[in-house]
Amino acid sequence: MKIVVCGAGAAGSYAVKRLRLNLPEAEILLFDAAPVGFYAKMRLPEYLAGTLPREKLILSSPEQMADWGVELHLGESVTSIDPASHKLTTVAGEYAWDTLVLAVGAHAFVPPVPGLAASSRVHVLRELPDADALVALCEPGLNAAVIGGGLLGLEAAWSLHKRGLAVSIIETAPRLLPLQMNEEESAVLLSNFTNAGFKVHTGAAVDRFDEAAAQLFLKDGTAVPASLVLVSAGIRANLDLAKNAGLACNRGIVVDAALRTSAPDIYAVGDCAELNGVITGLWLASKDQGEAVADIIAGKVSEMPPKTYRPKPKLPAF
Ligand SMILES: Cc1cc2nc3c(=O)[nH]c(=O)nc-3n(C[C@H](O)[C@H](O)[C@H](O)COP(=O)(O)OP(=O)(O)OC[C@H]3O[C@@H](n4cnc5c(N)ncnc54)[C@H](O)[C@@H]3O)c2cc1C
Repeated sequence: MKIVVCGAGAAGSYAVKRLRLNLPEAEILLFDAAPVGFYAKMRLPEYLAGTLPREKLILSSPEQMADWGVELHLGESVTSIDPASHKLTTVAGEYAWDTLVLAVGAHAFVPPVPGLAASSRVHVLRELPDADALVALCEPGLNAAVIGGGLLGLEAAWSLHKRGLAVSIIETAPRLLPLQMNEEESAVLLSNFTNAGFKVHTGAAVDRFDEAAAQLFLKDGTAVPASLVLVSAGIRANLDLAKNAGLACNRGIVVDAALRTSAPDIYAVGDCAELNGVITGLWLASKDQGEAVADIIAGKVSEMPPKTYRPKPKLPAF
């Protein structure tokens, strides 16, 4: 049996580790577009803040992954998959599979605001290289604007603040974390941020970014100083491979309770997969789905056990 896993994030890495245990005889190949190995994505804000050394992010380096007993293809992007012939193409060649697991994750969404897409001052925090780029740019006193005051946006804003930047937060909702907090809690959070020196614009929409002036303009005309812009406006599942292969996709690659896509022998897990209409977007859910798909492929269970996730919001200790 030849099993190919695309993506070495939480979903793909936990899948191959469990597959190796479950199926000692199987040939397992793991592809990832990035060469960095398996790292703790959810701790990127700590690295950005300077409170976690870069090496502590790494859960398994490429050298350590070589001991997983799988054929590793790090830094080799998968460019297409063909469900009919059971073959996939990468930047380096063509490979056959009996069973394919798509664990290709998601990317940060950048809203179509004039000036954002084209500017080298505009960044996201999704992958380790994103964090490396931000760390290199952080200079105390620099003005930064964070677009998006959700949990990840606030965490990233706090990280930039810890690096000594002067940070503005722009949030479209009328108050911070409306889904996670009641009005009173939200007001306390706002005053904590304000007292710590942040400028917080709630109920605010971004109109355009003027890179030359290093200013972000809001729809009401307010100019927010921004030598650096960090966009934290949600994620979008990576759907290109699946869509081009004709797999059913909504916001994510649609999977059934057995994590099967609409094509035979192709599964999807983690941030790219939509299970029961939901993309969970959480580390633990990606790990659970990765391990579950390995058990399903090995015939140990028939379905992903239903689970509810209630992550505790990580907020700064003011
Ligand atoms: C800053 C930040 C903070 C977070 N904080 C939390 C938190 O506090 N709690 C929590 O539960 N979750 C948190 N998350 C979310 C959590 O990290 C993700 O849900 C989880 O990492 C998703 O894992 P994944 O394996 O599905 O996707 P990913 O980690 O995105 O991995 C997908 C992999 O696929 C590879 N890939 C993509 N396309 C291709 C291709 N064509 N060919 C080959 N390889 C490809 C990518 O290089 C990537 O390595 C956070 C995320 C971020 C970015």
